[in-house]
Amino acid sequence: MSETLPTQAQIVVIGGGIIGCSTAYHLAKNHKADVILLERGKLTCGSTFHAAGLVGQLRGSASITRVLKYSVELYDTLERETGLATGWKRNGGLRLACNEERWTEIKRQATTAHSFGLEMHLLTPLEAHALWPLMEVSDLIGAAFLPTDGQANPSDITQSLAKGARMHGARIFEGVTVTGITVVDGRVAGVSTTAGDIACEKVVNCAGQWAKEVGRLAGVSVPLQSVQHQYMVTEPIAGVMPDLPTLRDPDRLIYFKEEVGGLVMGGYEPDPIPWAMDGIPEGFEFSLLEDNWDHFEQLMEQALVRVPALSGAGVKALTNGPESFTPDGNFILGEAPEVRNFFVGAGFNAFGIASGGGAGNVLADWVVAGEQPMDLWVVDIRRFSQLHRDDGWVRARTLEAYGKHYTMAWPGEEHESGRPRLKSPLYDRLRAQRACFGSKLGWERPNWFARDGEAACDVYSFGRPNWFEAVGEEHRAARERAALFDQSSFAKFEVTGRDAAAALSWICANDIDRPVGSLVYTQMLNSRGGIECDLTVARIADDAFYIVTGTGFRTHDGAWIRQNITAGLDAVLDDITEDWGTLALMGPRARDILAAACADDLSNDAAPFGTWKPVAIAGHSVRALRITYVGELGWELHMPIGAMGAVYDALMDAGHAHGIANAGYRSIESLRLEKGYRAWGADITPSDSPFEAGLGWAVKLTSNIPFLGREAALDARNRPAAKLLCCFTVDDPAIVLNGRETILRDGEPVGWLTSGGWGYTVGTNIGYGYVRNGGGVDKAYLESGAYELEVACERVACRYQPRPLYDPGMARIKG
Ligand SMILES: Cc1cc2nc3c(=O)[nH]c(=O)nc-3n(C[C@H](O)[C@H](O)[C@H](O)COP(=O)(O)OP(=O)(O)OC[C@H]3O[C@@H](n4cnc5c(N)ncnc54)[C@H](O)[C@@H]3O)c2cc1C
Repeated sequence: MSETLPTQAQIVVIGGGIIGCSTAYHLAKNHKADVILLERGKLTCGSTFHAAGLVGQLRGSASITRVLKYSVELYDTLERETGLATGWKRNGGLRLACNEERWTEIKRQATTAHSFGLEMHLLTPLEAHALWPLMEVSDLIGAAFLPTDGQANPSDITQSLAKGARMHGARIFEGVTVTGITVVDGRVAGVSTTAGDIACEKVVNCAGQWAKEVGRLAGVSVPLQSVQHQYMVTEPIAGVMPDLPTLRDPDRLIYFKEEVGGLVMGGYEPDPIPWAMDGIPEGFEFSLLEDNWDHFEQLMEQALVRVPALSGAGVKALTNGPESFTPDGNFILGEAPEVRNFFVGAGFNAFGIASGGGAGNVLADWVVAGEQPMDLWVVDIRRFSQLHRDDGWVRARTLEAYGKHYTMAWPGEEHESGRPRLKSPLYDRLRAQRACFGSKLGWERPNWFARDGEAACDVYSFGRPNWFEAVGEEHRAARERAALFDQSSFAKFEVTGRDAAAALSWICANDIDRPVGSLVYTQMLNSRGGIECDLTVARIADDAFYIVTGTGFRTHDGAWIRQNITAGLDAVLDDITEDWGTLALMGPRARDILAAACADDLSNDAAPFGTWKPVAIAGHSVRALRITYVGELGWELHMPIGAMGAVYDALMDAGHAHGIANAGYRSIESLRLEKGYRAWGADITPSDSPFEAGLGWAVKLTSNIPFLGREAALDARNRPAAKLLCCFTVDDPAIVLNGRETILRDGEPVGWLTSGGWGYTVGTNIGYGYVRNGGGVDKAYLESGAYELEVACERVACRYQPRPLYDPGMARIKG
């Protein structure tokens, strides 16, 4: 280190792997930020130097595919910009299918790729063989080819990014370890290092598998687990050409790429080996683990079947490098909910080279703006919770995710490890009634109830799964009689204080400053007018509000509200999720049942839609919120968690005469699709405005009340929409919609489905998705088009539906 370490900087990036270097490069280049990168050892000495270097782009999320596409675009030009070689070549990527189910998955992936503007072609086994002549194809059903995928030299590309960062003014210091983070009033104020202290405004933790330890220096949880990952490198093999595409063979759990005339072969064992459970050893730089041929043998056996020429090839090395993996297989990005201005970019699950360019780009935007630049929910650090501070739980779930890296990604698939964790008091009662549970943010939730003679366990399928008929019965119970849903996992907050109303008025797009007893559905918008949160706000006192949001959005929504309470106001947010249980009683008989279970007046005059009132059931005080997510008359009943058993029993007793039924989350999905209610994270995200989503009616633009995102919302209302959320139906019951199917208007792709499912009452497949058009989308544009959907690479007829499919009339819901 020749230059002395400065004592001050705007932004400090910790870690000189590909992610830190890319973030520093984008901060310096795109934002002209005053940025310092600190690396404990030498650049690339962590996981980066030993990566295999495959760069694939396809992911299940549009945003993350966009992030990976950007990586490829950057790698196309980086060498020209910096003059440093990157080893990047666009040799394409092959993906094989050895059975019908995998072939269906690949066809669905190809449609997803088409939705997201990524080229992906289906090939016959012979066509695949022509691209990869050394491969045995007798067991193949087909293959897919992504011509823009490629491979790079991980160390070279990182050095090139570092040079680019320096060229744009970033300063990089090697041999400097960050040993402490200073936090003042909940905000980053500086870092301590082995070479002195630096005062700074923002810190970006890109410390790879050390990110967990670095996070702890600031009290931030970064849930990841190091796992051993091995690949073999062979001596040159005749017939391996430099332009050989990368190859993924998920049924055999292995991948290949060309390297100096030989092959690199690695894979994902179903029994992964975790590493560094008690912390990463001191001085682990440019270090590898001992090779483990015994463990690798299972992959080797598979590889020999696919590429028989391997049997005669000399082995140059078996590389065993640790890499950080996460509980859901996605990386971790964004501002930590615990500390303002502390950002994380870590946990790259063995696709950090592929993600590097794009992740650094969006992370730099996020650091500078303080808001995510687009919908990044699937990688957002706020998708985790307190649960993820439990290292043992994180390890179990992470090893499961690693083992499933190449296994079939079934629609509706649930994790199995680390369960049960959080249980509603009704868990045993519902289990005894054949509930089949799923897990969300640690909570066990009834997904569906098996009927007599059915096993209460999921059998996954790309067709209609085993729960299809049972869910239909629960759906019909809600539409025709009444259904009772245990929704205790809802995230619940209280905002209290003299200025609680003022604080929430600023954060909420709808008018929540209404009398005690009111209940308001609202979005919370970012400064671009995108939807950050979608929730309900009940006023429980002049100075207190009760807020209910989705189970998975607990940390995200809590952090958003807390961070946006205007400084100086007397308003405090408390997370009370585990203190309160929720039963949703929905259906035309809901009032009769509730009236039989309590003595309170539940008539429409006494308990109108959009209000809440306290009622007494089985001697317990219950908040009865008159609202619905299924399109029926009903109440969400919120109560102290200890009351759940008695209230459930009382409602079931009272409901018996009315045909009440238990129901689970999978029927909620079908019911809400019929009614056209939106789901945050799918239909509505930080990239969508309420006007594009058909929720403009819930934005208080007709009032003069200022609120976060108001200017952007006004602008969105006044200009032609570039996209609109629309409903489509496919009558053919043989077709299954899962979301991400391509929407075609007059034969041209105009968007993709954000949600898809079956509507049991309307008897048709339902899909929601945004129709996009540069020249604007309006009613005339929508109605003048002829629509099809691409489903698993087949075009199917569909109908555009201008209105929600199921509308019993507000008289019934509100009556
Ligand atoms: C065997 C193997 C094969 C792989 N193959 C591929 C592949 O084909 N394609 C692909 O896309 N990805 C692949 N990967 C994954 C890829 O290597 C990683 O995702 C990527 O390198 C992660 O980069 P990073 O910058 O997050 O972490 P790292 O490269 O580990 O960088 C983190 C840096 O932070 C530094 N640091 C830690 N603590 C401190 C501190 N307190 N102060 C200062 N500095 C600190 C470390 O020294 C380190 O250099 C593979 C990984 C392995 C193990």
